[in-house]
Amino acid sequence: MAKLSISLGDKVTIKSENIFNLLNALRNAGYSVMGPTIRDGAIVYDELTAIEDLPIGWTDEQEGGVYRIKKRLDNAFFGFNVGPHSWKKFLFPSSLRLWHAEKNGSAFQILPENNDPPKFAFIGVRACELHAIEIQDKVFMNGSYIDPAYKSRREKAFIVAVNCGQAGKTCFCTSMKTGPKVTAGYDLSLTEIIEDAIHYFLVEVGSAKGAEILNQVPHEAAESKDTEAAERIVEETAKNMGRTLDTSNIKELLYNNYDNPRWDDAANRCLSCSNCTMVCPTCFCTTVEDVTDLKGENSERVRKWDSCFTVDFSFIHGGSIRSSVRSRYRQWLTHKLASWIDQFGTSGCVGCGRCITWCPVGIDITEEVKAIQDQVTS
Ligand code: SF4
Ligand code: SF4
Repeated sequence: MAKLSISLGDKVTIKSENIFNLLNALRNAGYSVMGPTIRDGAIVYDELTAIEDLPIGWTDEQEGGVYRIKKRLDNAFFGFNVGPHSWKKFLFPSSLRLWHAEKNGSAFQILPENNDPPKFAFIGVRACELHAIEIQDKVFMNGSYIDPAYKSRREKAFIVAVNCGQAGKTCFCTSMKTGPKVTAGYDLSLTEIIEDAIHYFLVEVGSAKGAEILNQVPHEAAESKDTEAAERIVEETAKNMGRTLDTSNIKELLYNNYDNPRWDDAANRCLSCSNCTMVCPTCFCTTVEDVTDLKGENSERVRKWDSCFTVDFSFIHGGSIRSSVRSRYRQWLTHKLASWIDQFGTSGCVGCGRCITWCPVGIDITEEVKAIQDQVTS
């Protein structure tokens, strides 16, 4: 195989088995390699120690409140859609100790935290997820207040994106203009091509460090037939979105419908379990807990993911601002699709569909918006 020297913007092909070399090159460069793998009947994100850790030959079926994995008829490496995890679990961990202290005589001494997190390489980041990372970048490191824990993880991260070769039944990235093709924010992007029993990847180089890694992987120059095959795959995916969301005037629609009876309807079904916020790749709310041991000698402060669906989340002196499920569901949906735009300049939703799939009662953000739209236009 002819080995070319690669630079930013180049397109090459690699054989499917050479994903092994890509993972090795990343490990040799000091990255902890994280990617999709099967655990407890779901495709989750965890450390990949071998190519066999990928869900090779598996896919998923998703619907409102439904998720299951099943075998595919081929050996695709990335033949599934997003699962319950998102990359925020690495960049913005669900539990993070902010400081700890030990009793030293009659006083407490605050001890330094390890501020040197691993250098992560993320394998298989989808277009919607790249947009979600971009949104969290804005929240955690591009505003007035910078989160050092997020920034130190994010700045070191290496991203291997994957163009989606199929759309899930709860996906609506085309409506949110976040996919299915990755356009920016990656070091390398892959399109998996399986044609006539030939299994390979078209690889696009998005950064100088992407080129440096790819130069260590056996590859060939891409031909027009390869780029055309990749384009066909993404076009087909875009045509097969499981859901759609009409975003025209959505901010005004939601701001003008605080009292719409549909909120009662959703509240009657919603369990206020907070699943939708835990799985959402853009949700960023946290709470802080202070803990001491029983002897009173060690103390620590821990930041944990929180959710606007809990009563405590909006608790101030005298009680909770959002004491009803109706007000909490309305707050979540209106923030995602309307006030997020005022706050951060984009929607807070990337159309990944996780909140639909992982809602135990199958409440569907696209259906709720449509119900309000239909009432307003009828
Ligand atoms: S609101 Fe739902 S569909 Fe939108 S990004 Fe969050 S989990 Fe995905
Ligand atoms: S919308 Fe669904 S997932 Fe979200 S809090 Fe309500 S029941 Fe739970």
